[in-house]
Amino acid sequence: MNMTNSKRIDHWIGGKRVPSTSGRNGPVYNPATGEHQADVGFASVEEVDDAVGAAHEAFDGWRRTSLSRRTEVLFRFRQLLDEHRAEIAAVVSSEHGKVRADAAGELARGIENVEFACGVPALLKGGFTEQAATDVDVHSVRQPLGVVAGITPFNFPAMVPLWMLTNAIACGNTFVLKPSEKDPSVSLVLAELLAEAGLPDGVFNVVHGDKVAVDRILEHPEIAAVSFVGSTPIARYIYETGTRHGKRVQALGGAKNHMVVLPDADIDMAADAAVSAGYGSAGERCMAISVVVAVADAADQLVEAIGKRLPALKIGPGTDPDAEMGPLITRDHRDKVASYLDAAKTDGASVVVDGRERKFDGDGFFLGVSLVDNVQPGMKVYDDEIFGPVLSVVRVDTYDDALRLVNDNPYGNGCAIFTRDGGVARQFEFDVICGMVGVNVPIPVPVAYYSFGGWKSSLFGDTSIYGPAGIDFYTRTKVVTSRWPDPATSAVDLGFPRTR
Ligand code: NAD
Repeated sequence: MNMTNSKRIDHWIGGKRVPSTSGRNGPVYNPATGEHQADVGFASVEEVDDAVGAAHEAFDGWRRTSLSRRTEVLFRFRQLLDEHRAEIAAVVSSEHGKVRADAAGELARGIENVEFACGVPALLKGGFTEQAATDVDVHSVRQPLGVVAGITPFNFPAMVPLWMLTNAIACGNTFVLKPSEKDPSVSLVLAELLAEAGLPDGVFNVVHGDKVAVDRILEHPEIAAVSFVGSTPIARYIYETGTRHGKRVQALGGAKNHMVVLPDADIDMAADAAVSAGYGSAGERCMAISVVVAVADAADQLVEAIGKRLPALKIGPGTDPDAEMGPLITRDHRDKVASYLDAAKTDGASVVVDGRERKFDGDGFFLGVSLVDNVQPGMKVYDDEIFGPVLSVVRVDTYDDALRLVNDNPYGNGCAIFTRDGGVARQFEFDVICGMVGVNVPIPVPVAYYSFGGWKSSLFGDTSIYGPAGIDFYTRTKVVTSRWPDPATSAVDLGFPRTR
């Protein structure tokens, strides 16, 4: 393995790259080759304080900046992202491992969040009531919170920061991003493009790091709100710690997404969907399908149809334009995912396709795709969020059994039903305890003008992320009651203010 680690990845504070001086670093790999290609400096408490200080200093000027000027910056940012699509996708692919088309796809969905935020003048409109009482008017305004922070996961290094920062800065906040230490470079590309778009220095800052940086963010008295996306145990910790320090917190966690297939479904369409949603991005998506729930006689046909599609999948590096699936994020994660196949066998499931049998040249963190049948709750392969290319099939007898299985699962991020029966689909949509539902759509990530959020252990906090919920999260409402009386009618009145 090549151990040259020539590249150093800096923070972005106050409009420029700032090298870390903490003396603590983390390795950044190219997952397709195993190469240790860079080191990222981990922020100390003082470095986080510098970034928060820069954001704090920039806040007053930015919140006073007109909405049309803020929108102009966002429109330019959108244009620059569009012009740099290919190079951003290449940066994502080189550190995350996902294939270029998939990296371009995440960026495209991220850009849609910028487009939504470009409508911020309309989104920030308040209400106005004339003559609420005699000569008294009432209006409401939405104001920014101040310095807000985002802590993001490795699996969408471009899209998830764009879920947060777009609405946050559009609303007049200033932002400190702590991206995943596993694929940190794209956050600096976003910072440079925002600067080129005309964003004033200090409005957007990046600090890299680990728990030290995260804990400082959670405790920092100048940070008003924290958005987090990552695994459930850390999401719970972020929510509990951040709220204890008086912050507004939204913390999105992990998932175990079920796809129910009824016997009347188009089995080929369902198999295509299960393969796409189960193995796309090597299963490292919070909206990946990890459990197919096959109802009654859908099961045999479906397992056969999925199995038939697997040998043709092209697994390779992001630099290969034909590759459909890349490696996993780290060697350790690849090995952990592979270990679930032994656990599945021990627990009594049937491993139909074992991804470990597929061999790859070189030191990349590749793993073939796996299909496991006859899975039940209580087995590790069912109970854990594996976050890899392992698709489980649970066989049930009836629609009610399928619904019960989905609803009993502790996660509630995404789920889907495949059927030709509109009535049953509507019933499922009504009854299922899950935040995002697909009907014959396996990955129902809401468009940017709705909001994204799971239920149960997939989200801690009161609001979903992006879309209208993002505007709510990043603003607070002020209500103004005003009177412009005629001095001739003024009089002392100690009674409680009345409206009639
Ligand atoms: P992670 O929880 O390990 O890390 C997320 C962030 O938290 C990173 O920035 C990381 O540096 C930080 N972090 C990690 N451990 C920490 C600790 N002990 N204390 C403080 N901070 C810590 O998640 P990941 O492995 O980067 O991402 C994958 C996970 O994210 C999966 O569980 C996936 O389902 C979830 N995810 C959820 C969504 C969603 O929208 N619900 C979207 C994408 C990913």
